[in-house]
Parts: sequence; C-alpha cells; structure tokens
Amino acid sequence: MKNWNEQEIRGDFPIFGRSGPLIYLDNAATAQRPACVLEAERSFYENCNANPLRGLYELGMDATQRYENARKTVCRFLNAACPEEIIFTRNTTEALNLVAYSYALSKLRPGDEILVSIMEHHSNLLPWQMAAKRTGAVLKFLECEKDGTLTPECIRQAVTARTRLVAVAHISNVFGRVNPVREITELAHRQGAVVVVDAAQSAPHIPIDVQALDADFLAFSGHKLMAPMGIGVLYGKKELLEAMPPFLTGGEMIERVSRRDAVYAPLPHKFEAGTVNAAGAAALEAAIRYLEKIGWERLKQREDELTVQAFEGMKQIPGVRILGSADGTQHSGILTFTVDGVHPHDVASILDADHIAVRAGHHCAQPLMDYLGVSSTARASIAFYNTENEIQAFLHSLRQVRRKMGYGE
Ligand code: PMP
Repeated sequence: MKNWNEQEIRGDFPIFGRSGPLIYLDNAATAQRPACVLEAERSFYENCNANPLRGLYELGMDATQRYENARKTVCRFLNAACPEEIIFTRNTTEALNLVAYSYALSKLRPGDEILVSIMEHHSNLLPWQMAAKRTGAVLKFLECEKDGTLTPECIRQAVTARTRLVAVAHISNVFGRVNPVREITELAHRQGAVVVVDAAQSAPHIPIDVQALDADFLAFSGHKLMAPMGIGVLYGKKELLEAMPPFLTGGEMIERVSRRDAVYAPLPHKFEAGTVNAAGAAALEAAIRYLEKIGWERLKQREDELTVQAFEGMKQIPGVRILGSADGTQHSGILTFTVDGVHPHDVASILDADHIAVRAGHHCAQPLMDYLGVSSTARASIAFYNTENEIQAFLHSLRQVRRKMGYGE
C-alpha cells in the first residue's frame, strides 16, 4: 500500500521490540498497545493522580478533567449526541450486563420477545438468557446463513410485534462480516423494540456512528482498540438511560443519601459507581487519537490487503476451510478456519512452535459452533500493524500442519 510505512508503524508498538520472535495474529482477542497509549496511562498517574469526581483541590480537578475529556473524545468517536450518553465500564461484557440488569429486568414482561442473533459472543447471549429467565420473556434467535449472512428476509421474519429487545453484534468475532445493523434498528423500532449492538469487534476496524445506526445501546472494550484492559464503554440514548434504574450502587453515583433512601446522580455518573478507571479512560482517549491519526480509510485498506493475502493463501492449502464470506475483504481481519483431520488446538500448537499466536476453541460462541456443526475452530485475526512477511510465515507454517500430523501432502 502506498504511503504506508510498515516499519514506522511497527516502531509505535513496544511489544514488537521485545527479544524473541513473535507473530501476533490474535488481535480479535486483544490488540497490542502503542507507546502513546502506555504513556497516557503512565502520565495520568505521574501528573494528575487523585480520585476523580471527588477532589475539590487542583490535582483532583485535573484528574476529573482528564476523565471527562476522555468521555468527550469517546462521544465524538461514536458520534453520540452528548457526553452524558457515554458510560465508562470495565469492558463490553459489563456494558451489556448493565443493559440487561438495568433496562431489561425493569422493562420486560412475560411473553415479550428478546431476539438474539445465533452468532453472538456469550457476552451478548448470557445476559439475555438471564433476563428472559427472570422476567418470563421469550428468548428467540435470529438465524444466519452458514456463511454468516443475516438476510433481510430472515430479519423481517424474526422481528415481530412482540419483540422488545434485539441484541446483535456489529461484527461477529467468528465471521468478521459487518452485520446490517441499520436495517435491524429500522425494523425493530417499527415494532417498538430497542436494539443493543455489540461493537467489540467493529470499534477497532470501522468508524461507528451511533446516530446513523440508530442504535439504542452500543458497547465496546478498550483493550481490543489498543487501550488498556479494564476500560470499556456503553453508549445509550439519553432518554433511555435517564429512565433506567442504576446497575450498581454505592459511592459517586449519588446526589444525596439519607438513612433509608438516596437520590441518584444525573447521567452519566448514575451508572459509574465507585472509583473509576480514569487512567484507563485517558489511555482509551490516546488510543482513539492514535487510530484517528492513522486514518480509518488507510487502516481498513491495510487490514483488507493483509487479510486478502492471508485468505487467498489459505484457500490454496489442501484441507483448510475458512468460515464465512468467500470474499476476503468482508472479514474485517478475522479468518476462522478448520484443518481437515486436525484438532484446532493442534493447529494452534504447531503454529506456536513457529512463534505464531492464533486462537483455537469455540471463541465464546458455542451456539454458533453447534449450528455450524463444528466443536471448535482456529482463528487468525489481523491488525494493520501486521506485516506481509508475517502473513507469509503464517501461510508457510499452516501448510506444514497436516504433514506434521502425519497426513500426506
Ligand atoms: N463480544 C464480542 C463480539 C467479542 O469478540 C468479545 C471479546 N472476545 C466480547 C464481546 C467480550 O469482550 P470483553 O471480554 O472485553 O468484555
């Protein structure tokens, strides 16, 4: 790709300077961090460490400002209407649970329908299983084609007059394909249902516009976006968040407390009980700025180039089957695959012997694995900082897998 300085980009990531070879192709599980993100976290503790939202002294106010500035940046990043719509959480899982406990438990009634796509990560399934069990709502599934497509007909059939909540991944962590969220929100809203979008896999790869998607809630994790572990985001439409009871209660989420009662703080703090991860938020802001500096278009172009290179190479290897679209550009860097006759754990171990890190298992999507008729798969996931040489090394190693397991060429 023109105007892409591979070495300069690699140089931004300290982990690639560590001793010993590393070909990191597990980016969908967690991304690597650039130095500017590590520096932002360190700078918070070195320059303005105090408990935010409490201190009436200068340092405390600095800490609060850093934290609230990060919220404004996330607001801009998602094109939310105002910063009050941005709630900091630990991760996607906590954000989705917040919606399940706070919104679903208070709103759903017996017979209401919760619609969840079959390809959801367990983090966007178990909270709805819980909500259905507790409220008497019915859990229904939005089925996909075997290649991961959510067809318009299937969506139209699945969303009914009883649907009250739809939970769907923006990008599945198994297929990598961008799901038609806008079409889903349009249909769901016609029936008066809200839509919860799991953006854990989309936030690192494509720009997100919550207003264009018309998402009611949207969650992502900082660590997949090159920020530290332990900071995540829930976006929610202001009128919905305002009407919801708090998820966790305790310090910093109140306005006034008496012996038997409390008046909760306004948004967003009503949903941020206890001491917050301000350094993580500041580092998330740095991660967003870093990605914006590279530019989403360049980033996507680079990831698509590397993904297509890997995809085309994998297609040539006998016994390798890739899940999802037959078009490499529709994978958002995610290549989930099986190797005939070889357990995915063995695939991962053989690649690991060549210092190549890929994921193997059910990818926290067991209902999808059941539907596809596989117990587990391997997954290589690519980020823009990977290199063409790394992709070649991965393909070379993958070509040896069946031979090493005793099969002929
Ligand atoms: N949803 C999707 C689609 C994911 O890929 C993941 C992470 N594997 C999650 C949710 C959960 O993210 P976290 O563990 O950061 O809460």
